[in-house]
Amino acid sequence: MKFCSQCGKTVVFRIPEGDNRERFLCESCGAIHYQNPRIITGCLAVWEDRVLLCKRAIQPRSGFWTLPAGFLENGETATAGAERETWEEVRAKVAELELYTMFSLPHISQIYLFYRAQLIDGIFAPGEETDAVRLFHEADVPWDKLAFPVIRDTLQHYFRDRANKEFRVHAADIEISRDIRR
Ligand SMILES: [Zn+2]
Repeated sequence: MKFCSQCGKTVVFRIPEGDNRERFLCESCGAIHYQNPRIITGCLAVWEDRVLLCKRAIQPRSGFWTLPAGFLENGETATAGAERETWEEVRAKVAELELYTMFSLPHISQIYLFYRAQLIDGIFAPGEETDAVRLFHEADVPWDKLAFPVIRDTLQHYFRDRANKEFRVHAADIEISRDIRR
């Protein structure tokens, strides 16, 4: 950040009085520009015994398979965001959303929330940022072509919980070393 979004003057990066970490602040109008983690919300959508995955058409990880998900918007609930992203990316309508996995990724300041959900009518199609959409049986999941570790972890939890006939929420902190090992 270079300029104040309130008044347009140059900002400085230092610890404001009474705070404990550096922020962008404007010495002209006094505005402190806080930057906090972003939330990504999405769905693990299920139809009968299959899960819905989509192939990314955009970077990063273009050509790899993922769950429909994206940045939560201001003024939106996390479930509404997951439903909206599912509609935008795979043109599917979902219901019965249940929070399923939460990942904290401090090295990129992101929080991921995935909901288990049911496809309402089994209809789907690629959205703007998607190359292909498919339902996968457990045996057909392209494990070596998944876009991100959080996708793999969510799917692994799902198939394990389903086999045990008991779903619970899974929360995890993912450190940077794990990303590198992908
Ligand atoms: Zn300012």
